[in-house]
Amino acid sequence: METLKEVKTRVFKFGGKTADGNSTMKNLLGGKGANLAEMSLIGVPVPAGFTITTEVCTEYNKYGKDAVVKTIKEQVEEAVKATEQTMNAKFDANDGSFPLLLSVRSGARVSMPGMMNTVLNLGMNDDTVKIIAKVSGNEEFAYDSYRRFIQMYGGVVMGVEAKNDEHDPFEVVLDKVKETKGYSSDNEMNIEDLKAVVEEFKAVVRKHAGEDFPTNPWDQLWGAVCAVFDSWNTDRAILYRRMEGIPGEWGTAVNVQAMVYGNMGETSATGVCFSRDAATGEDQFNGEYLVNAQGEDVVAGVRTPLEITILGSKRWAERNGTSEEVRAKDFPSLEEVMPSLYQELNGTQQKLEDHYSDMQDMEFTIQDGKLWMLQTRSGKRTGAAMVKMAVDMLAQGLIDEKTAILRQEPNKLDELLHPVFDHDALVAAKEISKGLPASPGAATGQVVFSADAAEKWAEDGKKVILVRRETSPEDLKGMYAAEGILTERGGMTSHAAVVARGMGKCCISSAAGVVVSSTSMTVGGVVYKEGDFISLNGTTGIVYDGKVDTMTATLDGDFSKLMDLAQKNTRMYVRTNADTPADAKAAREFGAQGIGLCRTEHMFFEGDRIWAIREMILAEDLAGRKDALAKLLPIQREDFSGILEAMDGFGVTIRLLDPPLHEFTPNDAASQAEMAERLGIAIDIVKAKVDSLHEFNPMLGHRGCRLGNTYPEITEMQARAIIEAACDLKAKGFNPKPEIMVPLIGTMEEFKMQEDIIRGVAAAVFAEKGVEVDYLVGTMIEIPRACLTADKIAEHAEFFSFGTNDLTQMGFGYSRDDAGKFLPIYIEKGILKHDPFQVLDQEGIGQLVQMGCDKGRAARPDIKIGICGEHGGEPSSVEFCHRVGMEYVSCSPFRVPIARLAAAQAAIRE
Ligand code: PEP
Ligand code: MG
Repeated sequence: METLKEVKTRVFKFGGKTADGNSTMKNLLGGKGANLAEMSLIGVPVPAGFTITTEVCTEYNKYGKDAVVKTIKEQVEEAVKATEQTMNAKFDANDGSFPLLLSVRSGARVSMPGMMNTVLNLGMNDDTVKIIAKVSGNEEFAYDSYRRFIQMYGGVVMGVEAKNDEHDPFEVVLDKVKETKGYSSDNEMNIEDLKAVVEEFKAVVRKHAGEDFPTNPWDQLWGAVCAVFDSWNTDRAILYRRMEGIPGEWGTAVNVQAMVYGNMGETSATGVCFSRDAATGEDQFNGEYLVNAQGEDVVAGVRTPLEITILGSKRWAERNGTSEEVRAKDFPSLEEVMPSLYQELNGTQQKLEDHYSDMQDMEFTIQDGKLWMLQTRSGKRTGAAMVKMAVDMLAQGLIDEKTAILRQEPNKLDELLHPVFDHDALVAAKEISKGLPASPGAATGQVVFSADAAEKWAEDGKKVILVRRETSPEDLKGMYAAEGILTERGGMTSHAAVVARGMGKCCISSAAGVVVSSTSMTVGGVVYKEGDFISLNGTTGIVYDGKVDTMTATLDGDFSKLMDLAQKNTRMYVRTNADTPADAKAAREFGAQGIGLCRTEHMFFEGDRIWAIREMILAEDLAGRKDALAKLLPIQREDFSGILEAMDGFGVTIRLLDPPLHEFTPNDAASQAEMAERLGIAIDIVKAKVDSLHEFNPMLGHRGCRLGNTYPEITEMQARAIIEAACDLKAKGFNPKPEIMVPLIGTMEEFKMQEDIIRGVAAAVFAEKGVEVDYLVGTMIEIPRACLTADKIAEHAEFFSFGTNDLTQMGFGYSRDDAGKFLPIYIEKGILKHDPFQVLDQEGIGQLVQMGCDKGRAARPDIKIGICGEHGGEPSSVEFCHRVGMEYVSCSPFRVPIARLAAAQAAIRE
């Protein structure tokens, strides 16, 4: 193992068109650091600086602060010196030369927006502020930066911030000034106000932190660097990592960079921009900026930013009902205000997009007429934008087919399949506000005003809309729990907007006329309290009163182009788990090629069927059971006929009855009375029979093939219904391909007995009908013993379908029905990385699957193998299935496109 003493590069410099690192070094330098190095290398103007590696973060967590600071001290000092030279300024300036001020930011391998700490303007103190005032000729700017620095550093490094329900003590000072002077915003403060605020801020620090604000820039630098490392392990960062599946071991890099200022006056500005539209995918440069502002002003949502391009600005005005005259005068675009800088920015964004061949999300600052790029990264995007951009970039020759597929996050396709508002319901809906369409989709639900409430209501099974003045990372949990998010303030790049888009959650920000408090929302004189219904259209930005019905989304041409590409590049194909002809049809439209699991028992709950199956279960003897089964036969035959027809020409795996019988019994008094009446027997007898079916561990009890082996007549009836349906369809010219599947096999003998019954019935039906169909008889592999003896089972079974739900249950020994009590805690504590019922545990259960496949193939080389557990629609599990050589995966209809993409990605990555 490495020790701290080992000599290695822990600090990587960049700036002045050179860099120690490059964009391939994301694991070591973090995404931001790697891209800063790359930008510098390709000649994009970035303020000079350096990156302290993610490895140092890991060392920091392991060996502690003092050891790490000692180890990196020399390298950091050298890097500061290099930065001074490139920027022609001096850190810790006490000789009157221009002070080098630094920003200190986190930067993990993948972006974790707003989750970790940042400190800006580092290096300021009572001396440097005066030099800056003098050299810049702008005293207000100098003191404004100084007060921002004290507040930020005080909060982030010294912990002086809002605690519990109290207000942020710095904000209290600012509010007091604004109130006394009658200002509506911070930037109305004059130089006297700013100087007074600086002094008051220092007093606030003294009072709340119990020590003076540090004046030595080096002390400030080390404080900030350590604070960034510390912020890797805050509750909110840990929560975010858990939600996004980011490992804790990765650590964050720290980027220390020369400050440039967007708040140096009217020739300065700052902004955030995207080389394409992150919401729709449109190939249109767009973004937001503010004149005379610092970066955080744009994203914090305190001042509403302006559009960068004329086109964007005009669209904004149209959405807002703002006249062109007012727009041009009060809300002009950067393209109009600073045309030549706009041209330079436009050229740079194009250069960066071309260089990375992907949509870039960039931050820039214009300092006194000079453009600086502060950051670039591949931008987060909605599912729709993800698909459109890939298809467009492929057509533009920017990427190839394989890249277009690999660019997809399969789970994000889900957003495209999400509901939109029903057109008719929308016509009748009452519009109450219009805001920025921050993240598309439709959401309807009850309003709540805090993240905690959102979580609680959602736990109670309610659909909620989280309404906030603006969101912060603390709101994350609530945002996850909500159907949609509405904020009073904030632009398209506000926290709410960026995070919601990443989550694929509908969001509207800057909602006009909406005033939010902690207990209500007022709009147009109407007060909405917790629990009242509203609806959001995140695609148009319109907020509606009450509930508005939703409907399924329609998929456009780009989606099918992408699916065609997936089809072309895949080896596995995708089936669906479907129990009705309607589901089967829907899945076929999404590209399912067959059914991997038809759970016959689901059909028993429809209409009056349940009474027939209950009659069968409660029958006294074989004759009674056969009578009841005779009633079920035509019903099942019809079901199977519908499904086989809907999937004509594709394999349809129909599973024999699987669940414990008690799931069908009448358990409440009223149903027992009804059952007694139907059967013409005493209610006590019904009750006694139901009681006799009670099992201590029903999931390990009388279920699966154990039913068919103890009551062969059930298998006979089901096999007959399947084969008869297939023969009848074949006679009508269809091409049915039934595959009869025996559930819960643990021994070869269990399977063999079922197989004999099925083949016997099939032969009889063929003889009766004078028609024959091809059919297969195979089994679920879902009991660990079946994996261990798969070679024996495969001597008889023509196919295997891995039932990874039960295999996970029995492999882990976690009850599927009870794991909800401890799995969330296990995940929170890091005992498990994922819920193994959602993401296949490749390390453990995966071995069982691998063994099942290997042994199965050893006995029957051409055995058909697939998966039908829930994992069949989960991308990482799909990739695993590809690796073990499965022929197909099967999943619920709406996950079919996700599985298809994941399968194609697996084939490409191989
Ligand atoms: C399984 O166990 O993975 C499976 C698909 O069957 P069920 O979920 O119906 O038990
Ligand atoms: Mg099962």
